[in-house]
Amino acid sequence: MPDAAKAALAARLRARIAAEGPISLEDFWQAAMTDPDGGYYTQGQPIGGDGDFTTAPEISQIFGELIGLWLVDAWDRAGQPAAFALVELGPGRGQLMADALRAAALAPEFGRACRLILGEASPTLQATQKNRLPGAAPIWRPNWRQAIEYAGKLPLFLVANEFFDALPIRQYEFKDRAWRERRVGMGAARDGFAFTLADVPQSDVPAPLAVLGAPPEGAILEHGAEQAEVAATIARQIAQHGGAALIVDYGFAGHRLGDSLQALRDGAPADALAAPGAADITAHVNFQSLIDAAKTNGAKAFGPVDQGAFLLALGAEARADALKQKATPAAAAEIDRSVRRLLHPLAMGRLFKALAILPPNASPPAGFQTS
Ligand code: SAH
Repeated sequence: MPDAAKAALAARLRARIAAEGPISLEDFWQAAMTDPDGGYYTQGQPIGGDGDFTTAPEISQIFGELIGLWLVDAWDRAGQPAAFALVELGPGRGQLMADALRAAALAPEFGRACRLILGEASPTLQATQKNRLPGAAPIWRPNWRQAIEYAGKLPLFLVANEFFDALPIRQYEFKDRAWRERRVGMGAARDGFAFTLADVPQSDVPAPLAVLGAPPEGAILEHGAEQAEVAATIARQIAQHGGAALIVDYGFAGHRLGDSLQALRDGAPADALAAPGAADITAHVNFQSLIDAAKTNGAKAFGPVDQGAFLLALGAEARADALKQKATPAAAAEIDRSVRRLLHPLAMGRLFKALAILPPNASPPAGFQTS
């Protein structure tokens, strides 16, 4: 992306802070990621290859294939509805969906019943997805809400890998025996941006009871209102019209305190405030808040289960063995390496987790039998 667009975005944020005072991390993050002119995702090619980060579907085709089989199985358990919406939120380069649809082709009726909707903010990534999905005839919506709403009265089958971690959060810090909001204001360094603390009514602080106890001085509380709103919207659609959602991301299973804000620029850790639009900003996903949102909106949640256990239960090793039979020794070694990366607890196997949202009377879907 041209540096001028990023410089202009930084200037707009500085002007806004000068006029309004410090802004929430949520507002800063939103602009840095999705500003139409200078946002990180709006232009550029962040994922894989020469991008800033790589993701499970870019590491191995097995990831998307197993998710495709999970979707066919969920559709089968739902009584094989003759028309349904298949929504992917944040499809990246389209690799997951390409692998999923290839695997799902074993059930041709699934393909015939499927209306594919991709929720993608980035025009650049939309173009990449179009190239990766010839014949799938997807339609695009620029944000998650419009993508889910497109389902209308159809059952909703949804997949989102590393989407929730990209949604903006707020942060609060416990200082002098009260929660203060960590906002983004002006400082000397960091391109002019720096964290400042703002007094806020304690009743406005979305501290879940579990962490309200007696937090230590300096404790950080994170809150992702938009993440919970996405889960609530998915849950309402599925509770009313049926379907199943699979959310995979990195994060933690119960409410907890701690600062998980991180930024990556050119593949290396960076300062989240330093150069809006130039670095990818993410935070760990609080799966408990997604579960809470799903339940209060009439759906049932399963998990989270560790990604490693989930993929193993779906048959990752058998699929790897089948691929290796047709591979050269070098390619077979590469398959082993990539599967190990997805499954191993010290790689992505434990940090990443899967959560499923289903109608209130559903039994556990594939891969969630233990939860
Ligand atoms: N699921 C992909 C990509 C993950 S990166 C993979 O596993 O490889 C995050 C994705 O979410 C990107 O496609 C990005 O453009 C999209 N995205 C980020 N914020 C978004 C938003 N607010 N609305 C819609 N899409 C968004």
